[in-house]
Amino acid sequence: MNEEPAPPWWAETWERLETRWIRARRTGTVLVEASEGLGGDELTRRLCVALLCLDGAPESPCGCCHACHLAGAGTHPDLHGPTEAGERYGIDELRAWLADLACRPVVSSRTVLWLPAPDRLGLAAASALLKTLEEPPEDAVVVLSARNARTLPPTIVSRAERHRLPYPERASALAWLERARPSDEAHEVWLNLAEGAPFLALRYGALVGTRLELLAATVARFFGPPAEALRAAQALQTGAWSAGGKESPTFPGSEAARVVARWVRSALAARHGVESLAVPAPLAAPLQALPTRRLVDLHDRARLLARLSGTGANELLAWEALALSCAGAPRSTPAGNRFRAA
Ligand SMILES: [Zn+2]
Repeated sequence: MNEEPAPPWWAETWERLETRWIRARRTGTVLVEASEGLGGDELTRRLCVALLCLDGAPESPCGCCHACHLAGAGTHPDLHGPTEAGERYGIDELRAWLADLACRPVVSSRTVLWLPAPDRLGLAAASALLKTLEEPPEDAVVVLSARNARTLPPTIVSRAERHRLPYPERASALAWLERARPSDEAHEVWLNLAEGAPFLALRYGALVGTRLELLAATVARFFGPPAEALRAAQALQTGAWSAGGKESPTFPGSEAARVVARWVRSALAARHGVESLAVPAPLAAPLQALPTRRLVDLHDRARLLARLSGTGANELLAWEALALSCAGAPRSTPAGNRFRAA
């Protein structure tokens, strides 16, 4: 059994990593930068397994040797770090991993530490890591996966060999999505929402499915009375709209914020005739009815919300501000109607 084939836009980066790290049997620190949704965490995880793989075949990791099996089960004694990308870790965990990294390898020929999102490290943890990078243990490789190297301490970046994952061509991203989710027909929609990042598109597809209309309908409640707009804002921030009466919401507020910002941008672009409107029906009508100046203002607020999301800022406040800026919004009415109504 071999590993899943790697996405096509990884090819160039992977080839360089393979030449410089896997086959060359180097030790030290490697940093892979990738914008969200390009699969940087997945690629670096794969790199860790390839570094430990016992097979040494050109298409590493082989997926079937003892080391690959252990890594797949999350029990490889020479692989350290969190077991998955979203996992939070603190100084104590990091210190333990760094100590393990310095031990002699048990199964493979080297020890590996995988650190996704190293920008979340506090000051103390960053300096503990830096100490190891300055004097790396023999046979050890540290693999860092980050969105942007500029968010990391320069002292850490300067110790690492940097690689950057490119965005895929649109056609190649669509072909990959089709293979990944053949039952889905909305690949174009997801890829647009994800602004060309295929793994993000996949997440949108899996999370929302046919619920895109429901998300749009929830946002459309912003245009009702203020109390209703505030209730909708809260539902969006907590993800409650997506729970469908069940306990756990399936769509976090930060994801919703980005989708909403993309819709408002589409409405603005359509207003200027730059692209055709790509917004689900429940929200298309209220957005189209907004005067252009209000639409521009909404666009700024939605972008701000999307930027704030996931940073730990007060997201509910930002959602409420967005909702209240829409609530009771005056609609642009055809000039004749005003006189008829009077
Ligand atoms: Zn293997």
